[in-house]
Amino acid sequence: MHIAKSLANTPSSYIREILAAASDKSVISLAGGLPDEQTFPIELMRPTLESLHLQPDVFQYGATAGYGPLLDYLTDHYDLPSSHSAMVTTGSQQGLDLIARAYIDPQDTVVMEAPSYLGAMQVFGLVEANIVTVSQTEQGPDLAQLEQVFQTQQPKMFYAVPDFHNPTGVCWSLDTRERVGQLCEQYQVTLIEDAPYRELRFAGTALPMVSTFCPQHSIVLRSFSKIASPGLRVGVVTGNTTFLAPLIKIKQGADLHSSVPMQAVLLGLLQNPAFSQHIETIRTLYQARYQSLYRSLKASLPAGCDVRPVEGGMFVWLTLPECDSFKLATQLLENKVAVVPSSVFYPAGAKAFPALRLNFTNATEQELTIAVERLVAGLTDILS
Ligand code: PMP
Repeated sequence: MHIAKSLANTPSSYIREILAAASDKSVISLAGGLPDEQTFPIELMRPTLESLHLQPDVFQYGATAGYGPLLDYLTDHYDLPSSHSAMVTTGSQQGLDLIARAYIDPQDTVVMEAPSYLGAMQVFGLVEANIVTVSQTEQGPDLAQLEQVFQTQQPKMFYAVPDFHNPTGVCWSLDTRERVGQLCEQYQVTLIEDAPYRELRFAGTALPMVSTFCPQHSIVLRSFSKIASPGLRVGVVTGNTTFLAPLIKIKQGADLHSSVPMQAVLLGLLQNPAFSQHIETIRTLYQARYQSLYRSLKASLPAGCDVRPVEGGMFVWLTLPECDSFKLATQLLENKVAVVPSSVFYPAGAKAFPALRLNFTNATEQELTIAVERLVAGLTDILS
């Protein structure tokens, strides 16, 4: 049987392939976007896990929009206006998929920064969106390019990761946030604000979400994968209730609802008074790992390579002199270090600037030091 054309046109994920290679114990992987499993707040979930057997109702079919007590908690926690509501998804990745399927017809234009989150490009690729990119600066998207695209191409959506972008780690400035909000309102473009890394800020000051500047023209995706555990598979979509209704309809067809026992476990965790301390602990741990990685890279990178500081998230972006970053990453695997080449973060046809994405949350400081030695040796060798 032939697979659908839209799927046949979707390249297989390089990250999956490289993660498979990186499972070799002698390879140090800075390739994935994994939190450190030693930090998972399993003890804080234990009281709910141990009392789940007393709640048979959570093992019944549940409501598509999510487990009521969790939705109430989230509506309150995010201080949603009365025109807005929340729905729970199976990871924020499902939220993205539902948005794409509910709103995008083939050839509808979706704007993103370049480079961009691979999972978003895949989802929008599968619904055959016309993906148009604008360059990313250290402050966020290039605003002149963005306005030009909004003006001339009537996009339906602007998909963005303003806090600690995947893959670059860039955090948009306040001015950029305000201006993007204005542009979305002015040109009637819906902002899809994807914020899985927002709580992982370990330096600087938190800035308002971009959606606060265009509340009626935005949908927000949040994830508990990075601050609790990805295996729970719980994400949340918030936005104007009229925007969410079609998503609920699509989700009915996709999986009826997300796992209710896992939503109950998440609620118990969020209500545990020690949860905020848990977030502090992972921030401190990730900051130490980031600083260790950043310092050793700065001290030893060969000429032409550079790395930008970040204030949170999970990644740094190592820029390179002109080269084939895909070939380079493959060669670095021979040096027993796994990284992700920039080329996979650009849609087909866009010019990919040579760079590597390095993750700093899933390796110890000691492993990071060894990884930098291997990386620098490999880069020096290959780029000379
Ligand atoms: N958005 C971005 C930008 C991500 O980096 C990720 C995970 N890597 C996701 C969404 C999906 O996260 P999840 O489905 O685990 O909530």
